[in-house]
Amino acid sequence: MNIHYLTLFPEMYEGVLNASILKRAQEKNIVAYHLVNFRDYSLSKHNKVDDYPYGGGAGMVLKPEPVFNAMDALDLKNPRVVLMSPQGRPFDQKMAESLSKADDIVFICGHYEGYDERIRTLATDEVSIGDYVLTGGELPSMAMTDAVVRLIPGVLSREESHQKDSFSTGVLEHPHYTRPREFRGMKVPDVLLNGNHRLIEEWRMEESFKRTRERRPDLLDDRN
Ligand code: SAM
Repeated sequence: MNIHYLTLFPEMYEGVLNASILKRAQEKNIVAYHLVNFRDYSLSKHNKVDDYPYGGGAGMVLKPEPVFNAMDALDLKNPRVVLMSPQGRPFDQKMAESLSKADDIVFICGHYEGYDERIRTLATDEVSIGDYVLTGGELPSMAMTDAVVRLIPGVLSREESHQKDSFSTGVLEHPHYTRPREFRGMKVPDVLLNGNHRLIEEWRMEESFKRTRERRPDLLDDRN
C-alpha cells in the first residue's frame, strides 16, 4: 500500500511513521509513506497556499490550486482520497478495515479556517476523528494510518493479532491480567488461573459484554 499525505507540516510525521508497528510495516515493504508538501505546488510568487474568504469573515482559507496540482502529480491506483475534516463521517473500525484493502490512500490535511469548497470534489471520503476541532489534519491522518496499517495482513505478528481487539468483534475487549497474582491487595480472578480454557473463554465473553453494556451500550444497539 502507498499512503500519501498532502500536508503543510511534513515534519510532524517523522516520529510517528518511524516508530513501532508503522516503522515495521515500512521495513517489511508492506507500506510506503509519501509526504507531499503542497506548498511546493503553489503557483504564487511566495508559495502562498491560503487567502481571505470571499464574502469576508475571520480566518484564512486553503486555496484550491496547490492541492489540485499536488494531486495531479501523484501516480495513483484506485485511490481512496480522504479529506480530513471535523465535518466528515466519524472514523471507526469498519472504515479502517475498508481502507486497509486500498492500494493507495491519500490524506488531504487542512489547516487554518478550512478548505476552499472546491477541494472537497477531490475526496472519495470526508472523515472526522471526533467531535472536536484540531489545528490541522496531520494528527487525525496519523491516527487513521495507525488504525489502518495494523489491519493489513502481515503487519502484526500472530501474537499481536487484532482479531479480538475492541470494535473488531463489535464489542469491547475483556480485561487482561499478568503477573503477579496479587498486587497491592488486588487479585487476579481465580478463573484465569485454573487452566480450564472453556471457562476462561466464557468468562472473557461475559466480561466483554458486561464492559460494553456499562461503557458503550450504543455498540450493542448497533449489533441489533
Ligand atoms: N473551520 C473548520 C470547521 O469548522 O469545520 C475547522 C478547521 S480546523 C482548525 C483545520 C483543519 O484541521 C481541518 O480542515 C481538518 O483538516 C483538520 N481537523 C480539525 N479537526 C478535525 C477532526 N476532528 N477530524 C479530522 N480533521 C480535523
